[in-house]
Amino acid sequence: MHYYSTSNRELRNGLKEAVIKGLAPDRGLYMPSSIPVLSRLTLKRMHGMNLSEIAVILSQALFGEDIPETDLKKITEEAINFDTPLVQVDESLYALELFHGPTLAFKDVGARFLARLLGYFTREMEEDIHVLVATSGDTGSAVANGFLDVDGIRVHVLYPSGGVTALQEKQFTTLGSNITALEVKGSFDDCQRLVKEAFMDEELNSRMKLTSANSINLARFLPQAFYYFRAWAQLEPGTRAFFSVPSGNYGNMTAGLVAREMGLPVDTFLSVNNLNDVVASYLRTGSFQARPSTPTIANAMDVGDPSNFVRILDLFDHKHERVIKHLEGFSYTDQEIRGIIAEAYRKTGYICDPHGATAYQAARSYREEHPGLTGIFLETAHPAKFRESVEEVIAKTVELPERLAAFSSREKKSVAMGPEFKAFKTYLADQA
Ligand SMILES: *Cc1c(COP(=O)(O)O)cnc(C)c1O
Repeated sequence: MHYYSTSNRELRNGLKEAVIKGLAPDRGLYMPSSIPVLSRLTLKRMHGMNLSEIAVILSQALFGEDIPETDLKKITEEAINFDTPLVQVDESLYALELFHGPTLAFKDVGARFLARLLGYFTREMEEDIHVLVATSGDTGSAVANGFLDVDGIRVHVLYPSGGVTALQEKQFTTLGSNITALEVKGSFDDCQRLVKEAFMDEELNSRMKLTSANSINLARFLPQAFYYFRAWAQLEPGTRAFFSVPSGNYGNMTAGLVAREMGLPVDTFLSVNNLNDVVASYLRTGSFQARPSTPTIANAMDVGDPSNFVRILDLFDHKHERVIKHLEGFSYTDQEIRGIIAEAYRKTGYICDPHGATAYQAARSYREEHPGLTGIFLETAHPAKFRESVEEVIAKTVELPERLAAFSSREKKSVAMGPEFKAFKTYLADQA
C-alpha cells in the first residue's frame, strides 16, 4: 500500500517511511492510496467478536500487504489489549466507551498501535530512536504509556511545570524504563517550541534519530477505525445507526469516515464541537476559517485549526456538498455542557465527561429529528479524568478507577529544564 500526501497526490511513500516520517516531506498529511472494502461475510463475522479480534481483521486489510501476517497479528494484539464496550444509556442511545485503556482515554488506541508499529519498523536499526512529545496533559500520558517498554525506542515528554494536573503529571513521570519526563520552567508553547527546534537542528539530527508521535501520524488515526466496527457489531443486526463524535483535531472523525469507506454500514456522523466551532461554521457556510482556540471545560476539543481536517476534505475531494452529506455539525458552550452533564445524569444515571457530554446531547437532538435511528455517542475519556467539573455539576463523587488511582501513590521522577533550547540540546546530545 502507498500513502500519498494531502498536498500532492503524486508524492507517495510506503507504510514504513510514512510511519517513521509522520508528516509528508511537503508538510501534507499521509492518506492511504486505496481504502480496502470488506466483504459482507467479513462484516457478519464481526458480530460476537471483541475489539482485539476485530482489530486483527482490519489491520490485516489495511496493513497486510506490508507486514507479514504473524507479525501484524502480534503488533495488533499487544496494542489493542482492552475492549470498547457499547453501553445502553437510554432507548436507542448508546455510549461507546473508549476509556478502558491504560490512561482512560481513546488516545490509548492510536498511541499503543503507533508505538508497536514504530518499534517493529526500527527493530533492526543499530541506534535507538528518540520520540519527542510536548504535552499540556493528556497526550503525554497516552504516548508515554503507549511506548512503555517498547524496545529500541526512548521517549522524552516535555511538560510545563505546574501546568498540568497532579494526576496527569503522575501518569507520565512515574513510569521509568524508556520514558523520561522533562519538567520545563515555562508554558506549553515553550515545550512545543523546544521540540520544533530540536527537529530543525541539523547537528542533533545528524547525531541521533528523532521522531514525533503526534496525532497526524497515520498509524495513530487509522487504528481508531477498529472501534467503530466494534460498536456496530455490538448492535442487533439490521439496526440503523449514526455516530456522534466529540471533535478537536478530527483524527477520531477521520477514522470513522475511513471505516465507512471500508464498508461500515453507517451514513451519518455528527461533528460535535465546544465553543471552538470552526468546523461547525464550515459545515454551515462552506468557508473554513481557522482561528485561535478558546479554553473550555472540554479542553481536548479546544482546537482552532484542526490538523486532521484536511484529511476529511481530501476524502471528499474538497467538495462542501459532499462533506455535508455525511457530517452534521453541532456546538455547545461551557454552560450548556454543564447543563447536559447534569441532565444526562438525572434522566439516565449515566455520568458523561465534558467531551462525551457534547456528543450525548448532539445524538439526542439528531434522534428527535430522525426517529427510528439508533445513536452511538463516543465517550472519549473516563469522567474521573475531569472529576472537578463533573462533580461540581452532579453533586456526587466520581470514583477514581483502580488503574488511575494506582498512579497517585507512585514516585514522581522528572528532569528540570529551562525554556532555552541550549539546555535541551545538551540534554538530548547526551542521550545519543
Ligand atoms: C483528543 C480528545 C478529543 C478530540 O479528538 P480528536 O481526534 O482530536 O478530534 C476528544 N475527547 C477527548 C477526551 C480527547 O482526549
